[in-house]
Amino acid sequence: MAAPTGDIGLIGLAVMGQNLILNMNDKGFTVVAYNRTTSKVDHFLANEAKGTKIQGAHSIQELAAKLKRPRKIVLLVKAGSAVDDFIAQLEPYLEKGDIIIDGGNSHYPDTVRRVASLEAKGLLFVGSGVSGGEEGARYGPSLMPGGSAAAWPAIKEIFEKTSAQVGPDPCADWMGESGSGHYVKMVHNGIEYGDMQLIAEAYDILKRGLNLSEDEIADIFDTWNKGVLDSFLIEITTNVLRFKDDDGVPLVTKILDKAGQKGTGKWTAVNALDAGMPVTLIGEAVFARCLSAIKDERVRASKVIAGPQKEPFRGDKKQFIDDLEQALYASKIISYTQGFMLMRESAKEFGWHLNFAGIARIWRGGCIIKSVFLGDITSAYTKNPELESLLFDDFFNKAVHKAQPGWRRVIAQAVLWGIPTPAFSTALAFFDGYRSEVVPANILQGQRDYFGAHTFRVLPGKENAKLVLGQDI
Ligand code: NAP
Repeated sequence: MAAPTGDIGLIGLAVMGQNLILNMNDKGFTVVAYNRTTSKVDHFLANEAKGTKIQGAHSIQELAAKLKRPRKIVLLVKAGSAVDDFIAQLEPYLEKGDIIIDGGNSHYPDTVRRVASLEAKGLLFVGSGVSGGEEGARYGPSLMPGGSAAAWPAIKEIFEKTSAQVGPDPCADWMGESGSGHYVKMVHNGIEYGDMQLIAEAYDILKRGLNLSEDEIADIFDTWNKGVLDSFLIEITTNVLRFKDDDGVPLVTKILDKAGQKGTGKWTAVNALDAGMPVTLIGEAVFARCLSAIKDERVRASKVIAGPQKEPFRGDKKQFIDDLEQALYASKIISYTQGFMLMRESAKEFGWHLNFAGIARIWRGGCIIKSVFLGDITSAYTKNPELESLLFDDFFNKAVHKAQPGWRRVIAQAVLWGIPTPAFSTALAFFDGYRSEVVPANILQGQRDYFGAHTFRVLPGKENAKLVLGQDI
């Protein structure tokens, strides 16, 4: 039999798999493609993959036989039991040191389990976040691999060449042990929810508060995209706002205001609650989607619950729009501060060695949250890898101080208008709580002791205080 020539195998010929195969082929790798429904292999080879070096396989055995050792096999199939099914099917055909890479949106506890189980059998397992959707998969995604460390040297070249590039840097790096790759991807998606919600709130304020048209709002976003908010999401929002239906009306005004979600934002928020970390902005972003989804109830409520009488805006519009840019920027700083706090805490809990500068660096390109801002986060963690919070970094500390007055003015005005700003507001509430040496948890502790004898600790120097509350009343 001829020696195998496949550099890497890929299972799953849906949109992500096909695009990633074509991308890897463009970068000079020989990819062997397989799919549960094998007719899709033939269709792919005869159409999208025609004229390329891509090979097909019609069984797992054939796939394994066509790959050079150590074998590297990427799974891009529906997350969940399909991943376990394929692992079980692959195992009999793999040898010690072979590598299975799950590039789907698997929940990180599944990856933790799979890494442990395969390593116990002498195989290597990598759970890799793949961000950037189909376009990213085709032309350069952001790749977040983690798991069996011994796999990284073997897959590094393929990952780095296949990923997006920002200047000389590939948007692929080793995240760390066990389920850390899928964990980082989960937090990435949570941050994406937050960024999207912040932009939606800015739109709402400009639309309902200042009564601007979609085109006028797009012009504002265009300007913002040349400054500190320069990002893929601001750019595509501008395009969404400008897009007209056949009758010339902005299509966005005809889109039903019910947001969908696939669950990764919720995973992040639930994980934050489990970890006891105040990742409030992502939580609010998930809840805002939930509130949007109960459209019928909101319609009924809108008929019977009145907000404030809306006064026309009498202030300086230009100043207000500048304030709004600062409010969005400051809230975004808080969201990333919270996201990195969560990753820091989880790294501690799981014993992972997450490289925060590397994480920010690979998010600068290829993914939905790519932005200039992530370059500043990379610099902050490069300067100080042990940085406790982004707000302790000079650059972000100054930025948030500068933004603060405008941020407060925007939220105050939105409250007076009755326009909801859950993400802007929770960011500011976090900021005010985080910078408070004293918070009212003394009252909470007093209440807990009073009704439940939960006890409390006293402040240093107040050791003579009574240690039980309520008995003298
Ligand atoms: P998908 O619709 O999630 O999955 C379709 C693929 O999974 C097909 O190859 C299908 O095989 C296979 N499959 C489904 N159920 C299976 C089962 N029970 N046993 C074996 N194979 C099964 O595909 P996708 O949209 O390309 O996404 C692939 C992965 O990437 C998913 O985990 C997704 O969450 C993740 N992801 C997607 C995007 C995106 O933008 N779409 C972005 C990032 C990450 P058949 O053809 O035989 O049905």
